[in-house]
This record gives sequence, structure tokens and C-alpha cells, in this order.
Amino acid sequence: MTSKICGIDHLGVAVFDLDQAVATYCDQLGLTQEGGETLPERGIKVSFVGTGDSRIELLAATRDNSEISKFLETRGEGIHHVCLRTDNIKETLEHMKARGAKLIDTTPRPGAHGTKVAFVHPKGAHGVLIEIVEKKASASS
Ligand code: ZN
Repeated sequence: MTSKICGIDHLGVAVFDLDQAVATYCDQLGLTQEGGETLPERGIKVSFVGTGDSRIELLAATRDNSEISKFLETRGEGIHHVCLRTDNIKETLEHMKARGAKLIDTTPRPGAHGTKVAFVHPKGAHGVLIEIVEKKASASS
């Protein structure tokens, strides 16, 4: 098995108002906006704020029945997921599955900025939704 978890890629924070959240994290907390993206198939829009190689992904819903709107309704704003970076998501998922991990996705799905992502169920990670991400070698961040 050559694939490995390389580190925490980012933390995901669910928010009601994306523009307001970006303003809070940048203007008040001193982080820098590093781009954003709308993911229509998941019903969400995201903005990344960060410093150095650390990033927080702010996530807001673009429709009522998205994964984020459900989270916001039941739990309110707050930490939504922890994202672990891997160099080979396919092998990592197979590895996790073989060891009994509770995977939501057994195959990767498209994430922001051309990445491949998959999720581990919070019930299989002590209450925290875990995102696994593989970035293209050419992607800068
Ligand atoms: Zn994420």
C-alpha cells in the first residue's frame, strides 16, 4: 500500500451567509480569501480563507435540500467536516474499506478546483464528518 494520508487539508465550516462569513474571517480574523466555487450538483457554494498552507472552507447552501442546509437546520453554524489529504484517493478508500471504515463514498466524486473527494460517515469517525481529498499534482493549493 503506497497511498497515505499527508495531513489535514482544511476544516469545513457551515455558514448561513457566505459573503458575511468571508468578511468575518478576513476582515475581523485576519485570514485571506483564496477563491471560491459553486458546486450545483451538491447544492453548495464554498469560499476558502486561509494563511500559509492552512485553509478553512466556508460552506453555504444554494438550495433548501442540500447537504449543508440539512446540517444548518439541525445543528446550526459550526465545524462541518475535517478534510484529510491523500496522494491516492482510490487506494486510500480501498485501504479504509478493508479496515472497516464507514465510508459514505466508496468511489471518489468531483470536489472544488478539480479535486477528487470522498466522505467517511460521522458515525464511523466519532461524530466528525471526514472528507478525503486528492489534488492534482499540478494544482497549486
Ligand atoms: Zn471540504
